[in-house]
This record gives sequence, structure tokens and C-alpha cells, in this order.
Amino acid sequence: MEEYKYHKNFKKNVMFSKEKCQFCGSEIDCLEGTYFDNPEIKSVCVSCFKRKKAEVLIPEFIKNKIKKDLNQEIEELKYTPPVPWIQYNDWQVCCDDFCIFIGEWKKEDFIREALDYDPIEFFKSLLNEYTLSLVDDINILWNDIGNNTAAFVFECAKCNRKIVVCQSY
Ligand SMILES: [Zn+2]
Ligand SMILES: [Zn+2]
Repeated sequence: MEEYKYHKNFKKNVMFSKEKCQFCGSEIDCLEGTYFDNPEIKSVCVSCFKRKKAEVLIPEFIKNKIKKDLNQEIEELKYTPPVPWIQYNDWQVCCDDFCIFIGEWKKEDFIREALDYDPIEFFKSLLNEYTLSLVDDINILWNDIGNNTAAFVFECAKCNRKIVVCQSY
């Protein structure tokens, strides 16, 4: 299986397309083009993606979060299978590098990972700054996970910090 620096277990986490690959006509493991933020991409199979037939457009605001010269990292992220975002690409950054996307978590995942802590407090402690700034009542957001809200979980490869981005329909 293909491994990606910034995306763990991608086959479990990406959205596959029912359309054939626009480059080779394959029906196997075609990534849904919507998440590439690139109007020319409808569907691309994993092997064409590997051969760089299609790239994800990385928004400037994400590039700007990294201070060092990041050509190599950007190149890597462009050819990483995209998260099935509900709103927009909000790839997380920590320790001056892109984080690894580890998947979408449901309530039971937070409960399991919280161990002896209160799962709602644990969930709140992982929220990224922007999501946290929008929260009036953490219980409402918590109860909406798996309904209208998806919790996308990232991990920093350097400090192991987890960061959660919530997006709602
Ligand atoms: Zn293809
Ligand atoms: Zn970090």
C-alpha cells in the first residue's frame, strides 16, 4: 500500500469517487476530485496521482503558516490524498511543518483516547484555535460530532501534539 508522510491510513480516510479516473479510465481507487480544490480535477486514481497527473491546490493561508523555506513540504502535500473536507482545506501546521492527518474521529474515539479524563474536556483541549474561538457551548459541538459536524484529527510528527479541526455542514 502507498504510504504518505502527511496522511495515515489514507484508504480508510479519503473519499473515493464512483467516476472513472479522468487520466487512464481506471475504476480502481479513484480519489474524489472535489477535495483537490482544483476545478480541472474530477476523479484521479491512486496510481495516476502517484505519477503526479493531478495535484491538490494548497491555499496561501496554509503555506503562510510555515516560516521556513518549504518547497519540499508543499510538494509532498500537493501529492497527498486530500482530507474529505466539509468546508475548505485547513491542513494543520505545528513545529513549522505540516501535521499528519490521522482520520476523522467519532465520539467513541475521543472517549477511548481520553482514558481517565473527561472526554468532552479532552476533546476541547485538542481543538484548534479557530474552532475553539467559534465554540459557545462545547456540549452542543460534542453532541453534533457524527451528525452535522466532522472532527478531523491531525498529529504533529515532531511533538506528537494532536490537533482537531471541526467542520459542520
Ligand atoms: Zn488513473
Ligand atoms: Zn508540534
